[in-house]
Amino acid sequence: METIKQDVVIVGGGPAGMVLGLLLSRLNYHVMVIEKNENFDRDYRGEVLQPRFMELMQKVNLHQTILELPHTKIRSGHFYHNHKEIGRFPFHDLSHDFPFGMWMPQPILLDGLHQKCRLNPHFKLLFGAHVKRFIYSDQQVTGIVIEDKEKKETIIEAPLTVGADGRFSTVKRLGKFEHEYEYYPGDILWFTMPCPPDWKGKFQFHLDKPYPYLILPKHPDAVQVGLALPLGKLKQFKQMAFPTFKDHLKELNPHFREFAATVPDFSSFVPLQAKTHYMKQWYKNGCLLIGDAAHCSSPAGAIGVSLAVTSAVIAAEVIHHTFQSTSLRLDQLHDVQARCGEEIKRIHQIQNRLGNALFSTSPFFQTIRPFVLSVLTRTSLISVLLRKVVTLPASFEVDSKLSR
Ligand SMILES: Cc1cc2nc3c(=O)[nH]c(=O)nc-3n(C[C@H](O)[C@H](O)[C@H](O)COP(=O)(O)OP(=O)(O)OC[C@H]3O[C@@H](n4cnc5c(N)ncnc54)[C@H](O)[C@@H]3O)c2cc1C
Repeated sequence: METIKQDVVIVGGGPAGMVLGLLLSRLNYHVMVIEKNENFDRDYRGEVLQPRFMELMQKVNLHQTILELPHTKIRSGHFYHNHKEIGRFPFHDLSHDFPFGMWMPQPILLDGLHQKCRLNPHFKLLFGAHVKRFIYSDQQVTGIVIEDKEKKETIIEAPLTVGADGRFSTVKRLGKFEHEYEYYPGDILWFTMPCPPDWKGKFQFHLDKPYPYLILPKHPDAVQVGLALPLGKLKQFKQMAFPTFKDHLKELNPHFREFAATVPDFSSFVPLQAKTHYMKQWYKNGCLLIGDAAHCSSPAGAIGVSLAVTSAVIAAEVIHHTFQSTSLRLDQLHDVQARCGEEIKRIHQIQNRLGNALFSTSPFFQTIRPFVLSVLTRTSLISVLLRKVVTLPASFEVDSKLSR
C-alpha cells in the first residue's frame, strides 16, 4: 500500500476543512484534505453567511477574496405574522464592517477557497476518497487509511489528523469521541421555489400557525423555504397522500400556491434534523475535531458555516503554535476547545431557546410568540440578541501570522 507523509491530514473538504487547509498551507505546512465527494457540488447547505463569517475572513485577510466571488447581499431580516410584517432588523445594526448577510452557495465558496489553496504547493486536495480507519502507534493516531472510488487504499501518515467531516463525522466515530450534549427539537423541511418580486434580498421569518417557516434568498431568482416542524410532524407528512400535503402547503402562504400546483412528488422536499450537538472533548490522541464534527448548530440560525470556520481559524493558530514549540506536545491542541468552546456553547444556548420558541406546539406560546417578537424588534433588543450570535465577540483575536 502506498504511504504519503504529511504534517496534517484533514478529513472533509467543507468550509472548516478548506479554511484550515488554506491557513496551514500558507504557513508552509504540508496539508492534505480528503473529501469523499467527487467535487464541491452540494445543494441545501449553508448558503446564507452571517456578518460573523466575513469578520472572521477579515481577521485572516481573506475577506477581499470572498467578496470577489458571486454573491447577493441581504440587508434586512423581516418577521411576519399572518402575512403582515410585525418587525424587522437591518444588518447595519449588527456589524460595522460588514453590514449585510450574504447569500453564497457552498460550491462557490469552497471553489473560491480551493483556488486560493492551489497557489500553495504544500496544499493537496483529494476528491472521491474517504477515511476507512486510523493507524496507531502507542495508542496515538499517526495517520489514516483512505479508500478511493476504485477501492484502492492509501496510507496518509501525519502527526495530526483533523476531523472536519461534518455532523455525521466518521473521524468522531473512529476516535470514539463522546457527546457532551445533543438537542433535537424538530425538523426543517426545505424546498426551493421561484422568488416572488417583493421577496428579493429579504431574510424572512413567518411566525404562523400551525408552525413557523423561514425564507432565505437563493441566487439568482429563487427562494429556499424551510418549514420548522415539531417532532413527529414530518412522519405525519410522509404518511399523507401527496395531494393532501400540497393543499396544506397552499394554505400556508398564498405565494406557495403556484409552486404547490406544479410540484410532482415529495422528491422536491429535503428534510433535515434541526439537531445541535457539542462534543465533550475535541482533541484526543493525535486527532482533533473542528466544525460541525465538534459542535453542530441548528440550521435555523444560519450560523453553522460561521461557527465551523471559527473553530477552523482557532485550530490553525493553535496547531501552528504547537508545531513551533521545541517539543511537539500535541495535548496543547486542547486549547482549540478552550479558546472557542464556551462561546459556541453560549450561542447554542441562545439557539436552543429560539428553537424551543420556534418548534413549540403549545397554543399559549404560539399566541404570544408574534407579540414578543414585535416588542423585541421595536425596542432594538433583537439587535442586541442577534449580535451575540451573528457577529464575532470584540475580544476575538488571532495571531497576525494567519493573515499573510
Ligand atoms: C439544509 C441545511 C441548510 C443550512 N443552512 C445554513 C445557512 O444558511 N448558513 C449557515 O451558516 N449554515 C447553514 N447550514 C449549516 C452548514 O452547512 C454547516 O454548519 C457547515 O457546512 C459546517 O461546515 P463543516 O466544514 O464543519 O462540515 P460540512 O460542511 O458538513 O463538510 C464536511 C465535509 O466532509 C466530507 N466528509 C464526510 N465524511 C467524510 C469521510 N468519511 N471522508 C472524507 N470526507 C468526508 C463531506 O462530504 C463534506 O464535504 C445548513 C445545513 C444544512 C444541512
